[in-house]
Amino acid sequence: MIDPFGRDISYLRVSVTDRCDLRCVYCMAEDMTFLPKAEVLSLEELDRLCGSFISLGVRKIRLTGGEPLVRRNVISLVRSLGARLGQGLDELTLTTNGTQLARHADDLAAAGVRRVNVSLDTLDPDTFRTATRWGELDKVMGGIFAAKAAGLHVKINAVALRGVNEGEFDRMLGWCGEHGFDLCLIETMPLGETGEDRTEQFLPLSVVRARLKQRWTLNPTDYVTGGPARYYDVAETGTRLGFITPMTHNFCESCNRVRITCTGTLYMCLGQEDAADLRAPLRDPELGEEGLRQAILEAITRKPKGHDFVIDRRHRTPAVARHMSVTGG
Ligand code: SAM
Repeated sequence: MIDPFGRDISYLRVSVTDRCDLRCVYCMAEDMTFLPKAEVLSLEELDRLCGSFISLGVRKIRLTGGEPLVRRNVISLVRSLGARLGQGLDELTLTTNGTQLARHADDLAAAGVRRVNVSLDTLDPDTFRTATRWGELDKVMGGIFAAKAAGLHVKINAVALRGVNEGEFDRMLGWCGEHGFDLCLIETMPLGETGEDRTEQFLPLSVVRARLKQRWTLNPTDYVTGGPARYYDVAETGTRLGFITPMTHNFCESCNRVRITCTGTLYMCLGQEDAADLRAPLRDPELGEEGLRQAILEAITRKPKGHDFVIDRRHRTPAVARHMSVTGG
């Protein structure tokens, strides 16, 4: 699938549910309304949809959400997608908040998952509770170490938040180094109403990188995972530090990704409203597999050049009304 800007679309992110057991302050409002179950694709439908994308050239799939591991029986989807590894699919990964990871780590590994991203913004239990509105850090730690014990390569993703975790990155980098985890820092993006002021939360990663360089030897590397992060080798730890900078450095020119929501809506860009409904063609027996593939290909011709996020005092409303948990992070 080649888009109008010559980009080869080979990476699909699949939000398997819009529900989450946490309410991170930059991600969701405290009081969220979730989709009625009837609107959500079954796991079999999601598997079939993924199969169509693979037949069109997708080689990497990341399951996300909401929180993917709160979806009942999600491991059956992981298994069916895992069976597609080596049959067109090169990699199956997962992004999780880690709260349910202790229960699922072995099953994920057995199904062929090799890497997981765990979102963790702080190592301090009180800050964790505040940032997630009620989360328990211990549970996530249990999940992270269960994943490590299951042989999964763990990457820690942390959203950089002014006044919340900005004093913690030295400690987090040291902790990740100690346990062999890569760390990736992310700038907060203006997606959905959260009831919080994003101009207060936004912390440019250029500032964070300059601070970290005073203490750590960061050597630029061309290591890529297929995602938007730019990586450095951390000489002192032997692990990597990545930066995802949608705000201060737009990386859309190399975007190889599209996203489907749990209702089968295809978003060609995280930061734009245009979308294609794939649920109707998926459920239409008259159209069949070829009709579904045509609907996907038509949508790819509409993939925009990029997002145009801005966070400043003149832009107080979100660039995009839907939350990250809908489109899938
Ligand atoms: N629940 C899973 C998790 O926590 O990783 C998967 C979904 S979550 C939406 C995926 C990632 O998006 C998390 O790392 C989260 O911190 C990040 N995220 C959510 N809202 C964001 C925003 N407005 N800007 C930047 N990152 C955001």
